[in-house]
Amino acid sequence: MVKVGVIGLQGDVSEHIDAAKKALENLGVPGEVIWLRKQEQLEGISAVIVPGGESTTISRLMVKNDLFESIKKLGREGLPIMGTCAGLIMLSKEVIGATSGQRFLGLLDVRVNRNAYGRQVDSFEAPVKLAFSNEPFIGVFIRAPRIMGLLSGRVKPIAWLDDRIVGVEQGNVIGLEFHPELTDDTRVHEYFLGKVL
Ligand code: GLN
Repeated sequence: MVKVGVIGLQGDVSEHIDAAKKALENLGVPGEVIWLRKQEQLEGISAVIVPGGESTTISRLMVKNDLFESIKKLGREGLPIMGTCAGLIMLSKEVIGATSGQRFLGLLDVRVNRNAYGRQVDSFEAPVKLAFSNEPFIGVFIRAPRIMGLLSGRVKPIAWLDDRIVGVEQGNVIGLEFHPELTDDTRVHEYFLGKVL
């Protein structure tokens, strides 16, 4: 049975849990989606989601709860991991505007600017083009980080806002500037969970 864990230390955890459950249902795959807080819960895990929230806090709590190193290792070994917004920051290799002591999993060869949009365009919704679907997806951007550059040929774009890259994939790992869990549309979660099946 598929076991999906949403890192549940800070951020919009329950929204991701609901979206992942709905996606599994739509895919017709039996599975459970858990609120992941402790290292022991990684036993038998099939996929991990790092939610949006505040990346400094998520980073600190992942280290404190012994999830940081284990998830980094599992990600390197091929475990499907998806990060949205603060989760994208957590997965990135280079972060502009990181706070001191903030740590990153470094599983995506991208450079992100942590608080790129600033106050004026704090939050907005816009149609995003997805590599795996013909219909646009409503992207919800909330104090979003911005993907500033791809650092290797291993990372490929999977989502665009106009001609700007707002989502990437590197093998088993996905990172998005926006929040797919805040809409009723589960296409992104279904695409991600397709990596498990
Ligand atoms: N910019 C925020 C951070 O640094 C992320 C915002 C979000 O996840 N909505 O964590």
